[in-house]
Amino acid sequence: MDAGSRWDAICVGAGITSLAFGAQVVKRHPGARILVIDKHGVPGGYATVFQRPKAGAAFDCSLHKLSGMGEGGNLRRIFADLGLDAELGLKVPADYFEACLPGGAIRFGNGVDAFRQALHERFPHERAGLDRFFDEVAVHGRNGYHQFQMMDGTFEPDFAQLRYAHKHLKHVTVADALAQRINDPWLREILAATGIYVGGFPEDLGYLYFLHVVYATLTQGNAYVEGASQRLSDVLAARIVAAGGHVLLGTAVRKILSDDAGKVRGVATARGDFYADRVYLNAAPHYALRTLFDDRPALAPIRRKLKNLKPSRSTTTVYLTTDAAPADLGLASTETMIFASGADASRAARAVCDGDEACERAYWRDSVMEVTNYHALNPSGGRIVCLNVLDTMAHWPERRSPAYKLKKARALNVMLERLYAAKPGLRGHVVYTEVSTPRTYERFTNNTDGAGYGAMVGTDLSGHVFHHAFPIAGVHFLSAWVAGPSYEAAFGYAEMKAKQWAA
Ligand SMILES: Cc1cc2nc3c(=O)[nH]c(=O)nc-3n(C[C@H](O)[C@H](O)[C@H](O)COP(=O)(O)OP(=O)(O)OC[C@H]3O[C@@H](n4cnc5c(N)ncnc54)[C@H](O)[C@@H]3O)c2cc1C
Repeated sequence: MDAGSRWDAICVGAGITSLAFGAQVVKRHPGARILVIDKHGVPGGYATVFQRPKAGAAFDCSLHKLSGMGEGGNLRRIFADLGLDAELGLKVPADYFEACLPGGAIRFGNGVDAFRQALHERFPHERAGLDRFFDEVAVHGRNGYHQFQMMDGTFEPDFAQLRYAHKHLKHVTVADALAQRINDPWLREILAATGIYVGGFPEDLGYLYFLHVVYATLTQGNAYVEGASQRLSDVLAARIVAAGGHVLLGTAVRKILSDDAGKVRGVATARGDFYADRVYLNAAPHYALRTLFDDRPALAPIRRKLKNLKPSRSTTTVYLTTDAAPADLGLASTETMIFASGADASRAARAVCDGDEACERAYWRDSVMEVTNYHALNPSGGRIVCLNVLDTMAHWPERRSPAYKLKKARALNVMLERLYAAKPGLRGHVVYTEVSTPRTYERFTNNTDGAGYGAMVGTDLSGHVFHHAFPIAGVHFLSAWVAGPSYEAAFGYAEMKAKQWAA
């Protein structure tokens, strides 16, 4: 490619939000030429697969569930608009998740009715609190879910409910809201478990936002892409290229170029400068503001504001393969949540998290561990299982140091032992393991603290509007940091930005 070439738009980063944006722009505006640049060797950001040929494994970095694939779901609509539903082999699991509690497991079928009924049966004494919770999901979760349509006037909410929600539900945490509604600490733990999808413990997340997450994952259908998230990323990248664009890999953007009038000109890379009047930043905003812009006084207020934008928790992940189908070894569900303590004990453990040992106990042993059975989602992808716990960068030493290696070994041991305690049939059948830490994630994506979920949506949202009226004209932010932490949010926000293209 010629250095110095001119494009209609440049995307910094080829994460799923950029790719979804590019594919939607070229569909709406044939002939639009988009350059997407990524420092990594494959497109997708977190929506990638990493290959381990010797282990016969291809691990999906992040996707285990696409929400919004049911009737009326945002992602279903966008996939249909793009003709992706026909092109991608989508797998819709029959189950939601299996909750493994010390007193026995509960398997939940997919969908709100199945989930609600199973909870009513297991926790009959909590019926009133459960009904209140599900009513809130149906009303306030639904409103939040349609936020993009609300903004463009295609969804009319009940404004009285909206006012009520903003006054009473927005500034309370999930932990506190559930404590007001539910007595049983195990039930609270089950209801809060989906917080792991967005990088927050119950005491981190705002309740109103959380209701929207539950609505999205519970009532709007889930699906998995055959060929995993890499296939989705590759298909989108191919759309951009077919329309005359380009996906330039293995190339880090070093600077965003702008003129003296405060208008963007393009980007600088080791392969030369590229020019466009619109530059879309898929990179994490903290990292971008620290490294990609000159030190202009106009940016100082944005930098200050960013201090209020807190990264969500990152994850520590164990990827593994087994020597037989996981279902034959006792791991039947597509997804399993393993609980170690009731809500009160877990929260208490995290409250005293002030050293390595305490953090490891709190995050790895005493908080929920999510298990994705990729083999059950897509048997042709191999006998692959993945374990996730929320974690933070703060207690991880530098990569490659002896302390880091020891810590990785401890994480592996703790997480595998939890898996074996819940599913004893797997012991002796795990043949390959690999550990990713918050540092691994940061290394590959430049995401602050390695947070694949972007910003923490807590009760204080003051940092979340940093991108409004950005002082350099033509610069837009495009990522989980502004869209929300999921593929569905990425596509939804990308759709909104693609609609604004002509403006
Ligand atoms: C363990 C885990 C499991 C998850 N599971 C799910 C799930 O099941 N369902 C779901 O909906 N969501 C899930 N998510 C969330 C989802 O993966 C993310 O929200 C989404 O992929 C983020 O996409 P993004 O485009 O915003 O950012 P990213 O994927 O972070 O993309 C940013 C890109 O920018 C590139 N970049 C950064 N700086 C530069 C630079 N200077 N020059 C060039 N390139 C640069 C990076 O290399 C990267 O490719 C999960 C996340 C994690 C971490």
